[in-house]
Amino acid sequence: MEKNKKNMYDVIIVGGGPAGASAAVYAASRGYKAIILEKNEIGGTIGKVSSVTHYLSVDKDETGKSFKEKLENQLAVYGVEIFKEEVLGFCTENSFKKVMVKSGEVYYAKSIILANGTTQKELNIPGEKELVGKGICFNPSKEGRNYVGKDIFVIGGADGAIKEAIYLAQFAKSLSIIHFEEKLGTIPEFKNKLEKLDNIKLYLQSRLTKIDGKDYIQKLEITDVKTKSVKIIEAEGAAIFRYIGATPNTEGYQSLELEGGFIKVDTKMKTNIEGVFAAGDICSKDIRQVATAVYDGTVAGINVSNYLKTI
Ligand SMILES: Cc1cc2nc3c(=O)[nH]c(=O)nc-3n(C[C@H](O)[C@H](O)[C@H](O)COP(=O)(O)OP(=O)(O)OC[C@H]3O[C@@H](n4cnc5c(N)ncnc54)[C@H](O)[C@@H]3O)c2cc1C
Repeated sequence: MEKNKKNMYDVIIVGGGPAGASAAVYAASRGYKAIILEKNEIGGTIGKVSSVTHYLSVDKDETGKSFKEKLENQLAVYGVEIFKEEVLGFCTENSFKKVMVKSGEVYYAKSIILANGTTQKELNIPGEKELVGKGICFNPSKEGRNYVGKDIFVIGGADGAIKEAIYLAQFAKSLSIIHFEEKLGTIPEFKNKLEKLDNIKLYLQSRLTKIDGKDYIQKLEITDVKTKSVKIIEAEGAAIFRYIGATPNTEGYQSLELEGGFIKVDTKMKTNIEGVFAAGDICSKDIRQVATAVYDGTVAGINVSNYLKTI
């Protein structure tokens, strides 16, 4: 191993969501110099949600923000350094890994844990890109209160979508859920809460197919998936939150074995490349929750430490 290389670490963790944070805590606690390269903020997807549910030992009314702060505090306790960098890819150079980032800086490590999660899908419909930041929103707890007394639309029918819809309903004149299937695909807990609200409109078997507006949203086009009939809805100054699924952030990882775009790992969270581990939602797996991301991060953090002992 070259000793005089700048930016040389034991383990570089890409992504500071629950998986990356957990991996960092475990590697650092075992005496290894672990850093996180995070393009936005610590917390990841869960840091932006209105409330964190079902993860054990969270506080009553735990918000994404309060959860994110807990992760930051725990990383600070373990002295994990966090660098704001967008990772573009990595390669193996002699016996270490070289990580390339958008700023042009280069980082080196003996091992890497890829924990950079997924990105929410876009609708890819006319008007969507142009209205980002002018009604197309990403963060319910930050942006929801900007739409008090307005119409708010949530696209999607799974748990995340319905949980955010329930939260956003408190601000909205009307809260519409647009979902392409016949029924919402959410758990009874959220279904029951939704049924108690009186400003909810459901557009089932429907897709949002066009958004009109310039500086703000004016009209929406909704298409019935079966009959193909089209409805135009007046929605002046409305907000739209999209939860239609997510794609893995694996564009820079084409040298890895992928499964449906997600990283294939073994039970130790090892990828097909020596010294490269992965954890969390970016991995090929069935259940994507904070609990499973933290589990993956734990397993990766411990196994990367065991690997470092051997080299
Ligand atoms: C609306 C919604 C509500 C949810 N609510 C819950 C809940 O209540 N309870 C629960 O258990 N689960 C919930 N989930 C699921 C949970 O958020 C995820 O399973 C969890 O966040 C996955 O963690 P992760 O660390 O694997 O990835 P992520 O949270 O996606 O974190 C990945 C991190 O990597 C960073 N990153 C991405 N690309 C790069 C790059 N190239 N370079 C550097 N950094 C990068 C991102 O900025 C991000 O911070 C919810 C999901 C959604 C969408």
